[in-house]
Amino acid sequence: MPDDEAEMAGRVVSVARANYPDLRVVARAEDGHEDDLHASGASFVVTEERELALGLLAEALGADRPRSELTAHLQAEASARSTRFVDLTPVGLTAAQLQGTTCAHAATTRTVVPRTDGCEECLRDGTGWVHLRVCLNCGHVGCCDSSVGKHATAHHHATGHPVMRSLERGEDWAWCYVDGKMV
Ligand SMILES: [Zn+2]
Ligand SMILES: [Zn+2]
Ligand SMILES: [Zn+2]
Repeated sequence: MPDDEAEMAGRVVSVARANYPDLRVVARAEDGHEDDLHASGASFVVTEERELALGLLAEALGADRPRSELTAHLQAEASARSTRFVDLTPVGLTAAQLQGTTCAHAATTRTVVPRTDGCEECLRDGTGWVHLRVCLNCGHVGCCDSSVGKHATAHHHATGHPVMRSLERGEDWAWCYVDGKMV
């Protein structure tokens, strides 16, 4: 996990701990960052590469707190993170994904160039996002379901385009909304 994400995860844990002192925070960190997360107040740290605390915190916080409270904190963190570092190079399913999947929609995807270097709707209305997804039909860039806008999901509902791939660095997984599973 790059340092900026480790720092961000630590910040999120601190915010969560400050606001919900009796919360059992579950966070993940790459080797070398566990101590930082413990210092931030995480009571349980799982070591795993490329896993971000936000989504896990959403689950942990969402369990016994009103969604609106959680959303406000996540939005503050997301805004801080909405730096644009999207690589605008073509992306598509890998050969292994195309050959190995049982998702019939995979064959309808193509290699796309991300249309914007951030969530298209969030950039328009000035809000922040948590993670980015790209539509493998049209190149629309939207934010994930841990983001306030959930614009990748909204894009699927608006267009019927079935498969969104992660645009996070180092990730190549894709999700089929129609089948409700990974491609
Ligand atoms: Zn499918
Ligand atoms: Zn968005
Ligand atoms: Zn699309």
